[in-house]
Amino acid sequence: MAFLPDKYQKIKQQLASYQATLVAVTKTKPPGDILEAYDHGIRDFGENYVQELKDKYEVLPKDIRWHFIGHLQTNKVKYIAPFVHLIHGTDSEKLLKEINKQGKKINRVIDCLLQVYISKDQTKFGFDEKELDELFSNNILSQLNFVNVHGLMGMATFTEDNALIQKEFSNLKRIFDKYAQLLAGSHKLTALSMGMSADYQFALENGSNMVRIGSLLFGERNYTTS
Ligand SMILES: *Cc1c(COP(=O)(O)O)cnc(C)c1O
Repeated sequence: MAFLPDKYQKIKQQLASYQATLVAVTKTKPPGDILEAYDHGIRDFGENYVQELKDKYEVLPKDIRWHFIGHLQTNKVKYIAPFVHLIHGTDSEKLLKEINKQGKKINRVIDCLLQVYISKDQTKFGFDEKELDELFSNNILSQLNFVNVHGLMGMATFTEDNALIQKEFSNLKRIFDKYAQLLAGSHKLTALSMGMSADYQFALENGSNMVRIGSLLFGERNYTTS
């Protein structure tokens, strides 16, 4: 299945009232699907795998803003550092340092979101609140001149329990507000990336201003053919 313009129009209208940014998630989808979405005006696309992102970057229009939303391994940062628009899943100090190192090499400040662990899923990544406190208090970020921490990102538990999802999103919003205030002098925390196809409405209601939506826009992913 390819791009679904009717779904897009509906989502676009919803997002407008929240002034939220749509990141169209295109992992496993061919460049042709991305071009269709591009022709409807979408410029922000999200990918999870470094090689796939690189391949698509090379063949698609250069005014696309590429978001890396997957789990990024330190040894792969160098492949996306020259062109990535925003790295959503920054989840360790080691990774922050590597992004800084690669940014320095090419003299490019790289925008990142810190991933926060808010769910009950053991498989998810991110800093917990205590680790964020440490990160922000011990001056590490101010030494990383080629990393710009631009906001936070989080993923809710994969569950049918809507109350739990809402609770996790509102908790992330609380954490976001706390640091946005605390850091107002040094960092501008402006982006709160939360919400996917199944839960973006809850995310918006709880303060998200950036949603990452794939299957609603492009149909279900088929991992076996990619
Ligand atoms: C795949 C993915 C999405 C999009 O998921 P959908 O359910 O298809 O909207 C969003 N965020 C992350 C981190 C993802 O890996």
